[in-house]
Amino acid sequence: MSKEIIVLALGGNAIANVSRTFDSQYSAIRDATKEIASLARDGYKIVITHGNGPQVGDAMLRNECAKDLVPPLPLYACVAETQGMLGAMIQASLLGHLGRDFKVASLITNVTVLAKDPAFKNPTKPIGSFFTKDELRKIKKLQPSASFREMVPGKFRRVVPSPNPISVIELNAVKELIEDGYIVIACGGGGIPVINKNKIVFTEAVIDKDLASEVLATSIGASVFVSLTDVAGAYENFRSKNKKLIRKIRADKLKELWDDGKFEEGSMKPKVKAAIRFAENTGKNAVIAAVGKARKAAKLKSGTIVYK
Ligand code: ADP
Ligand code: MG
Repeated sequence: MSKEIIVLALGGNAIANVSRTFDSQYSAIRDATKEIASLARDGYKIVITHGNGPQVGDAMLRNECAKDLVPPLPLYACVAETQGMLGAMIQASLLGHLGRDFKVASLITNVTVLAKDPAFKNPTKPIGSFFTKDELRKIKKLQPSASFREMVPGKFRRVVPSPNPISVIELNAVKELIEDGYIVIACGGGGIPVINKNKIVFTEAVIDKDLASEVLATSIGASVFVSLTDVAGAYENFRSKNKKLIRKIRADKLKELWDDGKFEEGSMKPKVKAAIRFAENTGKNAVIAAVGKARKAAKLKSGTIVYK
């Protein structure tokens, strides 16, 4: 039986399909975790992280729509809520696939950031739905202090600060659960962002789950770090007709493409950055692949493979 640790980061966008109901997301998670369950059956130690971009944006908007009836929650509270909700869905899905003999634990996770991170002054992380210009006019009345960015022509999305993750507060708990044979779900939504000086202080941000997952994967000695998303991997010339999937690439070569601005802010860019960091920090492979190809990707047979 293999004792290797595989960290798989599940994309929030890959989970949130068009309708965005609880049932449709739960169903997407059940599908997405099938392949992950088979890796657990193969004997790997599995750690799952996940995004929450669409879900946390929806949660904020729901709060703001109901603000005259019930006090709206801050962004970090919505991060905690969606971490819990998605963790519950992943946990139940895995138990459904594997049976109760498998041990699965979803851990509320705080991730530290620096108070002086420049991201606090420059929101870049897209959350929630895409809005047309007309919808945006209505939404802006509900969310007067929010920032929005035109992601593709005519389609706007709310953006929030996304500071760099430094460390995972519950790291030892994750390690102990892995040692005890648990499949661990951690760092959901990039973790609840906290500043950790003399005490832990929650802060208004959404940490990118790709970067937080890399911090976790590196800290627990993962043998491979897999980012699962809604495309087959990282492409060159992504928005053009001659887009090309990058199959296998050395971290320093990929960094050159990254420096040239080949990857889009808030989506592929952090995934590529996380993959480069993992390969450079550990000398092991990082993979960016489609959610449905988790098993092949973990065995370096699908997606974009990044090596040192
Ligand atoms: P996730 O929820 O999985 O993190 P994201 O939306 O953040 O999903 O990132 C995946 C998206 O990145 C893809 O759906 C695609 O539209 C976008 N993307 C931007 N640039 C690229 C690129 N160069 N190669 C592949 N996908 C890209
Ligand atoms: Mg993303």
